Order: sequence, then C-alpha cells, then structure tokens
Amino acid sequence: MCGIVGIVAKSNVNQELYDALTVLQHRGQDAAGIVTWSEGRLNQRKGNGLVKDVFRRRHMESLQGNVGIGHIRYPTAGGSSPALAQPFYVNSPYGISLAHNGNLTNTEELSRELFRSDLRHLNTNSDSEVILNIFAHELQCLGKLSPSAEDVFAAVSGVHKRCRGGYAVISLIANYGVVAFRDPHGIRPIVFGSRDGKKGKEYMVASESVALDVLGFKLERDIAPGEAIYIDLEGNFHSHQCAEAIVVSPCIFEHVYFSRPDSIMDGVSVYKTRLRQGEKLAEKVERLRPDHDIDVIIPIPDSSRIAAQLMAHNLDIKFREGLIKNRYIGRTFIMPGQSQRKKSVRQKLNAIGLEFSGKNVMLVDDSIVRGTTCKQIIQMARDAGAAKVYFASAAPPVRYPNVYGIDMPSADELIAHGKTEDEICELIGADWLVYQDLDDLIDSSSEGNPEITQFDCSVFDGNYITGDVDQEYLDQLARARSDANKSLNDDNEEDDAVIGLHNDGTD
Ligand code: AMP
Repeated sequence: MCGIVGIVAKSNVNQELYDALTVLQHRGQDAAGIVTWSEGRLNQRKGNGLVKDVFRRRHMESLQGNVGIGHIRYPTAGGSSPALAQPFYVNSPYGISLAHNGNLTNTEELSRELFRSDLRHLNTNSDSEVILNIFAHELQCLGKLSPSAEDVFAAVSGVHKRCRGGYAVISLIANYGVVAFRDPHGIRPIVFGSRDGKKGKEYMVASESVALDVLGFKLERDIAPGEAIYIDLEGNFHSHQCAEAIVVSPCIFEHVYFSRPDSIMDGVSVYKTRLRQGEKLAEKVERLRPDHDIDVIIPIPDSSRIAAQLMAHNLDIKFREGLIKNRYIGRTFIMPGQSQRKKSVRQKLNAIGLEFSGKNVMLVDDSIVRGTTCKQIIQMARDAGAAKVYFASAAPPVRYPNVYGIDMPSADELIAHGKTEDEICELIGADWLVYQDLDDLIDSSSEGNPEITQFDCSVFDGNYITGDVDQEYLDQLARARSDANKSLNDDNEEDDAVIGLHNDGTD
C-alpha cells in the first residue's frame, strides 16, 4: 500500500505536501517523495525512509511552486531500492511526474507492449513506471502541442483500456496541471477536496480524507471508479468518467487495517466499520459459546482497539489495555523478511502482567496474516500468567494473496492458506480462535453506504474482480515478491536512478 497526494494552490505547496505525507505515513514507511512545479521546472526530492528523514530544510527550500504531488511508498514489488521511490518521471510528452498506489495485474504484457510497440524504455521493475509510460504514450499519441482537459481524459481512457488491476494515480503534467484517476473497480481509494484561498479556490487530492481534514480542505467526494479529475494551473476543475465497464468494488482491507479510522472512504466511515466489526464479533461469541468464561478483552494495539472496545461492551466483559506498544518502532509487517518481523514484535509490545495473571483473556486483532505476530503475543500472554488465551480476529481468515497493492503476495506465507480454523488455532497456540464471518465483515462496511453492493474481498474468498488472475500469475507474483526475493533486492540497492529532473537527491 502507498499514499499519494496532490495540491493545486495559489501559494507554495511544499510544506502542505510534506504535512499531508506525514498524515498518510501509516500507508507506507519505505520511501517518500515530492515533486513541485514552478517557473517551467519540475523540482524533486525523493529517497528511502520516513517523511521526516527524507526531507531536510534544503530540500524543502528547493521544492518551490504552487502545484505539486507526493508519494509515500510501501514496497509491494521489487524490494526497497531507492530507485523505486516515487513520483516517477518521463520527459515526453510535456514532462510528466506520477505517483501511484496499487498494483497492475498485466504488468508483463504491458512492459512488452511498451518496449515493442510504444518504443518506450522502462528503467525499473515497478508497475508504477509502467502506468506512467502508458499514460504518457496515450497522451503523446494525441499529438497535441498543448493538451486540453479532453485530451487528458482521452489519455486516461486509454490507460483504463490497457491496464488491469487496482490503481489510484495522481500525476503532474508540467506547464498544464494535475490529473488524478482511479481504476474502473475503485479498488484503491482516492478522494479530493477544496478550500477557498485568499486568491481563489484551491484543490487537494489524496489517498485518504484524513489528509484533507488536517490541511483544512473540505472533502468534496471520492473520485468515482473509472473517473478522472483534472485541475489546470489556473485552478479550473474538470472531471470525466473515462471507463466503460464500471463495477464498483472497493478494497475491504482498507477498512480492516490500512486506513486511519478517521478517514471516510466511498462515503463509509472507517471508524464505524470497525465498531460494527466488534459488534458482529460479540454476536458470534454469544452464538458459539453463550457460556463462555472470558474474564477480560485485550486489544492488540492499535488497529483492533475500536472493534475490541465494542465487543467488550456488548458482551459486558472488562476491556483492558494489557499490551503496551513502543510507538517508536514501525509497523512490523512493513519490515521485509520474516526474521526481522519476528524480532520486532518483541521489541514493539510488552504485557502488563496484572491484566493477564490467572485470567482467561480474549486477545483481539484486526486480522491474522502470516500468523507471526499473534503467535508471539499469545505466548507473551501465557508468559504473563494467563490461564487461557482466546483469540478473535475482526477479519475472516486471510487465505489468498493480494494482487491489488497489499503486500500479501505468496499463499505459502499466509498462515490460513489451505488450513481449517482448528488447524490455525493450534498453529498459533490459542485455546480458542474466533474469526469474523465474511458476510458480517461485508455488512460492517456496506452498512456505511448501502449503494456499494460489492467489495474486493479477494484475500478472503479468492475472487479476483479483474478476472485475469490465474495460478500462473499468482506463482509468478509469489516468486517476485517472496520475502527471500525482497531481501535479495534490498541487498542490491543502488542510489537514486532519476533522470532528467531538477533533482535534489543528495543526502
Ligand atoms: P500476524 O499475526 O503476524 O499475521 O500479524 C497480523 C497483524 O499484521 C495484524 O495487525 C494485521 O492487520 C497486520 N497486517 C496487515 N497487513 C499486513 C500485511 N500485508 N502483512 C502482514 N501483516 C499485516
């Protein structure tokens, strides 16, 4: 998962882009980048690390301009090389910089086409570079000296015709404006908002509404699946539906884990979905074990806290913060490689013995993915003296890889793949394991906006909405993105491979 942002304003946007990326930092901690446009130049700074580490004062000073885009990266493809930090850039036509969240499922085919038919060169194995070049090619084919809004939308239509997968994109066309678009299924989220500045209306586009809130922009709406919006440099707003077959199917895992709870996505409050997940879990516990002997409910910080609170309330069981998190350690799943992940769980969480000693505890997490964290936490609970350790997951078993931009690539790495719930319970060492039912998870989300009748639940049910995902593709993805391959890529890191921009890439 990545976070993207774009602002078209009437004064310098460097600080606001920085602030927005900081607000979206939970969506990726691997790399960050900003590109601004001023006086005919694109100015860029990008590199590996957290937003606060990538941008120094001198970088910020070089990022002049009233228009800009930004990206924070979480690696789904190709490891963590600095060359993969975004935005990406091509100089023809016009000079285009692009930030992307998601994953294309036909990257190989498109890469071949780009090379053989479109005569374009790809310098990385990132699908974001592919989508940038497809967009650039489609725009170039129109052969216009200055592209109009209609031309930009025609190019986006071309992207939708050629690209499959989940994608949310924000792109800056030098001298012209900022275009943002979303895949025809609306798998990845993207919203826009505006505010009345002293010199006129200003616009912001971002992965999550929380970034708009914090920067004082009013949320207008989500970009619709297949739609594109274009804001030219004068601040004129244009929008157009650029896709033909639209099947709205937003990623439900955004509600489970990725998004901040204070975000609204497709009209659905993420906070409320998590409350409802807790409500449904409580109902399931009552249904399965009306005479349960749970003494205390303890959330695994942080994403599960909201669901755990409501679960405890509805079951009339004590809710306690028994696990304390060291806030200065990153999200464990973002660290590549299983051994690093294992180590960091211990560094990250510590148990308050009093809350466990002699008690039957129900631990709650938002989901179980690889099973590494929960296994260790269950052991931690036992070491702290718990009599019995039960475990509830606010999401159903994650059994299938994600192909639309979430790092769950190889079925072998998922603890629930090909296993029954009893087998998983035994593997993680719990005395009882309760999983959310998929229908309940879907209800928790769709109650927020009944107009959405379908979500992308592929990690739970193996149904891939783009219709092009077969076993061969999954095998190839697993090879490319396995932990082993990631660490190989990380060992081969090279410096910034950016060509053609005013690039303050020095550290
Ligand atoms: P585990 O018990 O090791 O499966 O870790 C589960 C925790 O990691 C839960 O809090 C998950 O929400 C979180 N998580 C979310 N997305 C991922 C992911 N892509 N890979 C691994 N863990 C994830």
